[in-house]
Amino acid sequence: MVVLEKAPAKINLSLDVLHKRTDGYHEVEMVMTTVDLADRIELSLLSGGKIKIESESRFVPNDERNLAYRAAQLMQKHFQIKQGVYIFLEKNIPVAAGLAGGSSDAAAVLRGLNKLWNINASIDTLAELGAQIGSDVSFCVYGGTAVARGRGEKIEELPAPPPCWVVLAKPAIGVSTQSIYQKLNIQKAEHPDTQAMIDALHRGSFEDICAQVSNTLEGVTTKLHPEVDQIKEKMKQAGAEAVLMSGSGPTVFALVSQDAKVHRIYNSLKGFCPEVYMVRMLGTRETT
Ligand code: ATP
Repeated sequence: MVVLEKAPAKINLSLDVLHKRTDGYHEVEMVMTTVDLADRIELSLLSGGKIKIESESRFVPNDERNLAYRAAQLMQKHFQIKQGVYIFLEKNIPVAAGLAGGSSDAAAVLRGLNKLWNINASIDTLAELGAQIGSDVSFCVYGGTAVARGRGEKIEELPAPPPCWVVLAKPAIGVSTQSIYQKLNIQKAEHPDTQAMIDALHRGSFEDICAQVSNTLEGVTTKLHPEVDQIKEKMKQAGAEAVLMSGSGPTVFALVSQDAKVHRIYNSLKGFCPEVYMVRMLGTRETT
């Protein structure tokens, strides 16, 4: 038996950091949505309780450092499973990019093993478990569109944004989320109006969503990597309706409602950035 799971990337329509908590984590408020750029995960049974992971990507580790491996370990331990699993990971989402690729892989493994090992846990239980792996994993278990609070594990579902194109451009740099948070000055940084973004999604207004995109971490990453601002500028000049850095970066996304414009934006970035993608917004939950 083989179980296939799709692990889509997410973008942050807004990202706010409220304060640093006494446990060392940051209290956040993030509006996130999934896009149609996905890793593909293949799971099959292995005997003897062994976990084996393989991927053709040279950017991700093929051992317990891989978040997908950790998700399998956690499922085995939590549900006292004696079976093992072979995980094949087809990596399509750029790594260390602000698109939650690792978290989405881990979430897909939680969902997939729930089927492969006949565990039948609820999606809420899987999301709770996911929080032990990383802050974005709970959101990725559900997918769709949501506001995430706490350190990212408290999920409230939101309506999907109106269908549109998303152009993603990642400059040839990797960004460590931890170092960006360390350099953030919460008082001085810009803060999004999260409620206004939530209201815009409830109204289904593409224009209002575009007006509210904002990311508290953007200023920190831009200061270290001016490429981020250059990409934003190029996207705006080519006619993007909204542009923002996702997560801690460095990937920048553009929201585009018109088919006629999206190729212009994609092409304007193609020669400038090594990794450019033109995808559709997903936005609705595909989980069962
Ligand atoms: P986020 O948006 O949640 O901060 P990210 O997109 O910035 O995540 P990832 O692509 O998840 O970052 O990778 C961050 C680090 O995690 C990388 O340095 C990578 O080595 C490690 N990692 C572990 N497992 C995976 C995986 N399955 N896919 C990608 N990276 C992984």
